Amino acid sequence: MAETIFSKILAGEIPADKVWDDPHCIAIRDISPQAPVHLLVIPRKPIETIDDAAPQDTALLGHLTWVAAEVARREGLGSNGYRLVWNCRDDGGQEVPHIHLHVLGGRRMKWPPG
Ligand code: 5GP
Repeated sequence: MAETIFSKILAGEIPADKVWDDPHCIAIRDISPQAPVHLLVIPRKPIETIDDAAPQDTALLGHLTWVAAEVARREGLGSNGYRLVWNCRDDGGQEVPHIHLHVLGGRRMKWPPG
């Protein structure tokens, strides 16, 4: 798979504000936050889009969801809540072709999303 900004961050070639690091994933602060708290949970495995996830990835996807909830809790978002978002391909607004789960919180989210 082609290099992306996230593969470079995972390789330590580009710095990032890391809030979680384990054998399966990292979580970093988004460089252009869309909410008071905006984190990205990024698997080490380079899956291009959530549409490319395979049945053998379900445990990883579950782990990423748990890490998202854990880092949200650590940011103090647990009681008021937050939003988790997977953007997928063009219509979903995905810019980086390496899956990442957005954790957005610290303000009231709108519905429907833009
Ligand atoms: P997407 O649009 O693909 O769902 O989300 C990509 C996210 O990555 C965007 O929210 C964007 O601000 C963030 N981003 C892009 N480049 C960098 C970077 O170099 N560092 C960090 N921390 N976030 C980035």
